Order: sequence, then structure tokens, then C-alpha cells
Amino acid sequence: MRFLNADCHVHSDYSDGDDTILAMVEAGAAAGLDVMAMTDHLTLPKEIDPTADVSVQERALPAYRADILALDHLSRSKGGPEVVLGFECDWYPGCEEHIARWSAGAKVRLGSVHLLGSWWIDDADDLSIYEELGADEVWRRYVDAWCAACESPANFDVMAHPDLARRFEAEGWPATIDLAPLYDRMAEAAHSTGRRVEISTAGLRKPFDDYYPARALLERFRAAEVPITIGSDAHTTADLAYRLDAARAYALEAGYATQDVPHADGEWETCALA
Ligand SMILES: [Zn+2]
Ligand SMILES: [Zn+2]
Repeated sequence: MRFLNADCHVHSDYSDGDDTILAMVEAGAAAGLDVMAMTDHLTLPKEIDPTADVSVQERALPAYRADILALDHLSRSKGGPEVVLGFECDWYPGCEEHIARWSAGAKVRLGSVHLLGSWWIDDADDLSIYEELGADEVWRRYVDAWCAACESPANFDVMAHPDLARRFEAEGWPATIDLAPLYDRMAEAAHSTGRRVEISTAGLRKPFDDYYPARALLERFRAAEVPITIGSDAHTTADLAYRLDAARAYALEAGYATQDVPHADGEWETCALA
């Protein structure tokens, strides 16, 4: 089993990132990545994202696909990272038909629960869901949605930032209930539906300063034999490959020996963590 330095969650200016795919791939080469999955936010229906601020516009999808395929070829010809075509797909009721249409050709589909009803749970400019429901109820609803997303026929390859509901825990919105039963449900849902889960270093760049998922949740995933991927969720070149080495050490400490890595041809490879 070989080791690959892989960042499985990367954004560009096709969605809400700051930099072009070319700039991200150049940064990936500079960071010594072997594989990077471009996972811009998949197109959303107008009711959810009326101005297409946060997701790839439908009319830009062909260019997004073409850019990634061309840059994968160019990058590899220069000894740079393999670049995998992917999307970060929001789960919401009725998303499956949209995902099938808009993500055609993708080799990686991250499943994310950012939305509960019409509320975004990770928008620092709008914490109204926390003010209205409180953190405990956000957690309960989040886990219900997350388990439904695991069960979705969209068949997500990876569940991204699994405990996103902790996003504002250091900014006045910590859960006060015991999360253990919710963690148990998440591990069971991921296991029974055959999902992978992501270790994300994005949380290390937030005030709570920890990984998604928290250690106690990661250990439950490990006990349930749920495979992992590792990603930075970079939206800038500066954050690409952010602390992937630390995340691999975190996975080893939680009892993992391997991470799953996607390839441009759609194959997945089980790789050593060190
Ligand atoms: Zn996300
Ligand atoms: Zn993301």
C-alpha cells in the first residue's frame, strides 16, 4: 500500500473560492500534492441560491469540467498533482434529481449539510438559526438531515465536515446536550450506507480551532469501520493542503491506518497514512 499526499476538498472561483483552478493547481504542485480533488459547490436551484453567489452557475458547468480535465492533463505532464473532477453537493430534500443532472461526469461527490430548511448553519453573517432554535436544536435537526443525506440515492462518495453544527461552538453557540447519542447515530448511518467521512482541516482555521470531526466522533467512525478522506476545504491558494500532515497524525491517533484517495479515472485507492 502506498502513501499519497492528497487534498480531497478544494474550491476555486467557479464557486465561492478566491482563486482560479489554474492557481490552485499551481499551489498544489508547490505544496507537493500527489492528488487534489476540485470540489466546487454544485449548482443550486434558484429558490436556494437566487444569485448563484455560492455555487457554480449552470451555464459555467461545461467550462468547469473542461478546465479541470485540461489542467489534470497539463499538471501530470509536468509531474504535478493529478486533478480530480468533483463537486461539493448540498443535501436538501429533493436534491437528487438536480445532483444527477448538474454533477454529470464528476468522479467525486462530497455530500454536505449546510442547509436546514431555508437556514444556512455556517454563515457567520447570519446566525439567525442559532438565535431562533438554540444550538441543541440545531444539532438535533442537523443530525437528522445528515443521516438522511447518508441514505440519499445521491450516493455521496464522502460526507464532508461531518459535524459542521459545531461551527460556532466557540462563538456563543456550543451544544449543551450530550452529543454521544447523536454521534452514535451518525456512525451507524455512515456505516450502514457505506459512506466515507472527511477529516477537514477547515476547523483549524476557525475560532473553535479543531478538526471536523471532533475526536469523539472520529473514534466512533473508526469503531464502525467508516473510511476517511482528508481535505483542507481551501478557498484560497494559501489554505490549499493546509495541515494535511497534522490531519493524518490525528487519524492515526484515532486508530485509523489508511485514507481513501480518489483518482481522475474514478477509481478509489486505499492509501497508507504515513
Ligand atoms: Zn462545506
Ligand atoms: Zn467546501
